[in-house]
Amino acid sequence: MGARSGAAAAAAAARRSGKKAEAASASSAMAPVGGVESAAAAAGGRSRRPPRLVGYEELPEFLKDNEYIRGHYRAEWPLRDALLSAFAWHNETLNVWTHLGGFLLFLALAVAGGGKEAAHEVAPGIMRFVVGSANSSWKSDHSGLAGSAHGEAAASAELGVPRWPRMVFLVGAMACLATSSAAHLLACHSRRATVVFWQLDYAGISVMIVASFVPPVYYAFLCHRAARVAYLSAIAALGALVVAVLLSPSCSSPRYRRLRAALFLAMGLSGVVPALHALWINWGHAACYLALGLEVAMGLAYAVGAWFYVSRVPEKWRPGVFDVVGHSHQIFHVFVLVGAVTHYVAVAVLLDWREKVAVACGGTTP
Ligand SMILES: [Zn+2]
Repeated sequence: MGARSGAAAAAAAARRSGKKAEAASASSAMAPVGGVESAAAAAGGRSRRPPRLVGYEELPEFLKDNEYIRGHYRAEWPLRDALLSAFAWHNETLNVWTHLGGFLLFLALAVAGGGKEAAHEVAPGIMRFVVGSANSSWKSDHSGLAGSAHGEAAASAELGVPRWPRMVFLVGAMACLATSSAAHLLACHSRRATVVFWQLDYAGISVMIVASFVPPVYYAFLCHRAARVAYLSAIAALGALVVAVLLSPSCSSPRYRRLRAALFLAMGLSGVVPALHALWINWGHAACYLALGLEVAMGLAYAVGAWFYVSRVPEKWRPGVFDVVGHSHQIFHVFVLVGAVTHYVAVAVLLDWREKVAVACGGTTP
């Protein structure tokens, strides 16, 4: 089936590009940039320019996704041109760079987090900023976070709370952001690339959601091994199920936007159960309240992002106006980044708390 549809797609692509070349040369007087390019290409010109950008109506069916984005499309570009188009303006430029920027940010955090002192330096600073020194219950937490923090805190840090759960999240986030950037950059290449890259993107989102569960569940249930294993197994199973559904050929079409949003939302919302459980067993620890508040903020950021993703606001209101800057998918990307960074801060809070009151487990190895 793959070979047959591949051959059919190639034939269709050949027909289309033939048509496109005719259209381009016919309209060369009207479209100066495209006209010059196609003339140069036809003449086998020395200065090879990228293919021209096209409008929504000119797109092959498999690239038609958002009818409110009217122009600035790259349709069936060679891979090299598609890659180089990261540095040119079209309707995916900011989708690529929002998540590529996020990838670089998380890479920097992963590298910085490799240093043993990073969480010590970052998390207390953030917490002092968020909580302020007026919160007296904070000090009764013995976390040492509101105070000068270095005697006992540094000593208990030596107990060694594992950092790998946080690294799991960082790697998951990087995988998601990198596949997203690659998909936005290269999916326009062909029908096959469209299918493969968007499936990779959906798998990347699922991986990021599952990876997001690992550090909070690990640190919140540090002293409750059974609950920890149960929650992590459950979310991994749910993630595998979602990936299986999303990778089934019938669900990867752009038309299933709502189904995908619903599945990702369900994965995220399933976090309410371990969150309430964690709150119950860690009742009275200010760091847990703060981390939970941050996770609620993360959930809000993702939910608002998902609303933009599904509703296609603002381009729905003014089709064609937000083609290059300001359309719903770019806003969605920004909210995803805000949510992921908020989650990172929540994890930093939990890790810092565990490092300073790890003795709460009674010294037992979890
Ligand atoms: Zn995207």
